Amino acid sequence: MKLIDLHVHSTASDGSYAPGEVVRLAKEAGLKAVALTDHDTVDGLDEALAAGEALRLEVIPGVEISARFAGDSMHIVGLFIEHHDGKLNGRLEVLKQARAERNPKIVAKLNALGLKVSMADVVRLSGGGQIGRPHIARALLEAGYVRSVQEAFDTYLRNGGPAYVEKFRFPPAEAIAMIREAKGVPILSHPFTLGLGSAGALRDLLRDLKALGLAGVEVFYSDHSPEQEDQYLKLARELDLLVSGGSDFHGLNKPDTGLGSMPSQKKLTYDLLRPLKDWRRREYGG
Ligand code: AMP
Ligand code: FE
Ligand code: FE
Ligand code: ZN
Repeated sequence: MKLIDLHVHSTASDGSYAPGEVVRLAKEAGLKAVALTDHDTVDGLDEALAAGEALRLEVIPGVEISARFAGDSMHIVGLFIEHHDGKLNGRLEVLKQARAERNPKIVAKLNALGLKVSMADVVRLSGGGQIGRPHIARALLEAGYVRSVQEAFDTYLRNGGPAYVEKFRFPPAEAIAMIREAKGVPILSHPFTLGLGSAGALRDLLRDLKALGLAGVEVFYSDHSPEQEDQYLKLARELDLLVSGGSDFHGLNKPDTGLGSMPSQKKLTYDLLRPLKDWRRREYGG
């Protein structure tokens, strides 16, 4: 079976392995294609693509954008993006700036709560890429204030938590537009995180997003139950949306999620790539 993974993070955002290492691990895991989809950055893609060439593994350039949704975020993955596109990079710069302003504010809130962590610790743990809450969680773990990254989120960093700080996000329409500008295929990630409750609400949302240019939905995902998978697959068929999927691998920062190890990944085979590639060709030509 030719398995693939279309949702993976590296040290360019909050994964623990460098982009080239992620590709090497994907090769070792026997995958036939892997998409690097770091949060709000394309900085890992050149390294990943070079590693893909060296190891003869198909690497798909991607990104995962955090858009604004009901006071929380909606993640939209862009696959097959032209990552040197100037306009995309200009938009991503805005998001980087937003992170740079937010991280010290979170650390200050933690300090005010009596937790002694510093931005220097956080930077050291980030591996040199974009910094986010998972790195702050690791700093809390390292300092012994929590027993796991999850506990750091549950106790302090979760949305609305005592050390939470808002971050600027583009609306979904703009996230989709910036992916399309760069000739990417926009996919709604892990729909269950939107907390919509009913299939009807998700159907309405997907319809609206499709009108804005959304191409597909992440049906296969490491944390989707078989029921969710069935539901999303049905919705994708009903609304004529592409089917995508991936593990959301973060390396040691999400130790239970391995590349190629999720139960439903057996269904995440190379055949799924063809419709994605066909859509892209139809939409943008070439
Ligand atoms: P940030 O982009 O800095 O807001 O961090 C968002 C990232 O933190 C997500 O992509 C997840 O990797 C992680 N994350 C967000 N919320 C939680 C949570 N409640 N529990 C565990 N990890 C989370
Ligand atoms: Fe993440
Ligand atoms: Fe995500
Ligand atoms: Zn992700």
